[in-house]
Amino acid sequence: MYKAFLIKYGEIGIKGKNRYVFEDTLVSRTRNALQHVDGEFSVRKENGRIYAEAHSAYDFDEVTEALGRVFGIVGVCPVVLTEDEGFDALAQTVIAFVKQAYETQDFTFKVVTRRARKNYPMESMEVSAAIGERLLEAYPRLKVDVHEPQEVIHIEIRNKINIYSRTIPGPGGMPVGSAGRAMLLLSGGIDSPVAGYMVAKRGVKIDAVYFHAPPYTSERAKQKVIDLADAVSRYAGTIRLHIVNFTDIQLAIYDRCPHDQLTIIMRRYMMRIAEHFAEEDGALGLVTGESIGQVASQTMQSLAVTNEVCRMPVYRPLIAFDKQDIVDVSQKIGTYETSILPYEDCCTIFVAKHPVTKPNLKSICKSEAKLAENAGDGRTIGELMREAIETAETVRIGTD
Ligand code: ATP
Ligand code: MG
Repeated sequence: MYKAFLIKYGEIGIKGKNRYVFEDTLVSRTRNALQHVDGEFSVRKENGRIYAEAHSAYDFDEVTEALGRVFGIVGVCPVVLTEDEGFDALAQTVIAFVKQAYETQDFTFKVVTRRARKNYPMESMEVSAAIGERLLEAYPRLKVDVHEPQEVIHIEIRNKINIYSRTIPGPGGMPVGSAGRAMLLLSGGIDSPVAGYMVAKRGVKIDAVYFHAPPYTSERAKQKVIDLADAVSRYAGTIRLHIVNFTDIQLAIYDRCPHDQLTIIMRRYMMRIAEHFAEEDGALGLVTGESIGQVASQTMQSLAVTNEVCRMPVYRPLIAFDKQDIVDVSQKIGTYETSILPYEDCCTIFVAKHPVTKPNLKSICKSEAKLAENAGDGRTIGELMREAIETAETVRIGTD
């Protein structure tokens, strides 16, 4: 029945030029979302409002679900748009609206009218009162309650008259693309996909890097990460995923460095390589799924030592989250089931029984100096890193 949706967005803090960037990005993100839905739609901005209009039949739930993944949308109101053909015609349209919008016409309500167009012959209050009266006549079981109505019927007099009552909550946040780019370190775990989702929700466009260690890690483990990137891209839009072969670097670390330092040193090389791809892609920061104290490599001391190799800011949106809270988000966004599939990760293979929890930076740097001279078969770690970067495979995940 609805041929259009009114898209509501938060306006706080988006003024002047930022407001246009926000709105235009939201229009294009909304358009993209509806391209994946069966049916013909157009999306337009009009007087500080965004409308999505259907030009064919469509599935209501499919549309609201798709719009429910567009960051920046605070609410979606199915709306009836009607030409101004006099008050009587308007009253008839509202009566028909209430019949179709509700299964039974048995609730308390009030009418709220806004005139964006001041040349309308009646004042807002007058319109509300007169429409309220007509509704009471048409549906005797309705009752007016101006203080705590069950339903609010909105009438907005603009170019066309907008009639709506229901608001389906949107995800909030900022439209993806309104805030720059970041490089997500995406593993097959629970945390990093959630971290990517959260940063994307602030308007950041994400790319990702995944380190694997074939043949120690399988093709299925890689496919799992591709599937996770795909799940995140339903919210975040297209993701360029760089898949880096980390095997030789890990073997070199394993051969040459004290085993209790393996994870930290490995993490530092991941950060260095991720930063390379970030620079190449024009990203302004790195994103990880780290959270204080979750494992040995995520104590404050370990995070400090890992962070020491980065020149770019490292964003850790889950830093103060409990695991259960992270799990809750991953279930909500649909990554959890994939994340818990039991495929090996490169970190779990070359892992020490008793990793350091308070790594000493000097000692870590000394271990890395050995790799700089000779990381094995005559090559330096610099050469191994270059090779890992050059042989990386880049796949484009999702469609915009
Ligand atoms: P996750 O659930 O995200 O894997 P985790 O609890 O398993 O996190 P770690 O394995 O210690 O934690 O990894 C910490 C962070 O380092 C991850 O959130 C991710 O950002 C990054 N990371 C770890 N392993 C990889 C990998 N193989 N490829 C890319 N990034 C990784
Ligand atoms: Mg992990």
